[in-house]
Amino acid sequence: MSKQRITVIRGDGIGPDIIDSALQVLAKVGCDFEYDFADAGLVALENHGELLPQTTLDLISQNRIALKGPLTTPVGEGFTSINVSLRKKFQLYANLRPVISFKGTKARYQDIDIVTVRENTEGMYCGLGQIVSEDGSEAQALSKITRVGAERIVVYAYELARRDGRKKVTVVHKANILKSTSGLFLKVAREVALRYPDIESTEMIVDNACMQLVMNPHQFDVIVTTNLFGDILSDLCAGLVGGLGMAPGANIGEDCAIFEAVHGSAPDIAGKNLANPTSVILAAVQMLEYLKMGTEAEKIKQALKQVIETGDRTTRDLGGVHGTSDFTQALLERL
Ligand code: ATP
Ligand code: MG
Repeated sequence: MSKQRITVIRGDGIGPDIIDSALQVLAKVGCDFEYDFADAGLVALENHGELLPQTTLDLISQNRIALKGPLTTPVGEGFTSINVSLRKKFQLYANLRPVISFKGTKARYQDIDIVTVRENTEGMYCGLGQIVSEDGSEAQALSKITRVGAERIVVYAYELARRDGRKKVTVVHKANILKSTSGLFLKVAREVALRYPDIESTEMIVDNACMQLVMNPHQFDVIVTTNLFGDILSDLCAGLVGGLGMAPGANIGEDCAIFEAVHGSAPDIAGKNLANPTSVILAAVQMLEYLKMGTEAEKIKQALKQVIETGDRTTRDLGGVHGTSDFTQALLERL
């Protein structure tokens, strides 16, 4: 069998450091992948004059799997978000953002195990109807929800629940105010729920969901929601388990998947060997699970647990005093 090829985008800011850490970890557990390195973001703008070069897009379509560091979209007109473009281009409609507790972090809670399933192509992030009036006194944007889009993401959430032995799916919405868009999403979610009598279904309004997540997060198992709410709630969930350095994300479509950290390029700590690589290492774990390499995935998770719990060589966001390279070294030694 030929080797699995994976497109790797190192990304901006802390990206290269944490991606290299993840690649070392993958090698250590014996993953014999072929990597095609591709540029995107600021690096690509410098090297190729565009943020998302065609060669990079071609490599993603060819290999169908990519591991990606954070990408910075320059602020200002004329630049659409690179992450949003990638999700649209490859129809990566499902964004899976799991958070689990590791003992030894500064998190407020233990035993958290929540996965947010965020719709990734519609809603407020569809990029439609962006208008600012000539005098700059008024701005508009459109949100779009389709039955097809809502149904496929809700089905995805229930199928994931079944596959992973999860018990409950909570649909988060704001149908009481956003009657058309969130209303349609909720209507479709209720229909889909009827097809999964083996899974408990609940619904919650987004503002209440925020409060409930902070006060009693253990009631949540799978959360399924629209694009903007999912973006915000998943950062909130990351906060429950020790911050963005702990939060991976998978962007999954019918025939392509991109694995990444939830956080951005963290310019405040870039180039200082301070970043926690756990986020992108856990993204690599999600990638292994996607490739049905559960044994390797589990090995990495266990080693991460041990290193973080021991706390000897953890990064500052985890309460330690060490850098990315020491933390990675500790992990490699465990493995
Ligand atoms: P974006 O708009 O790209 O999402 P952002 O403004 O939300 O970016 P992030 O880059 O996500 O910002 O960083 C938010 C905060 O979290 C920063 O203070 C950053 O240093 C911290 N942070 C992000 N990722 C990590 C990490 N892997 N390890 C440690 N700290 C991190
Ligand atoms: Mg952010």
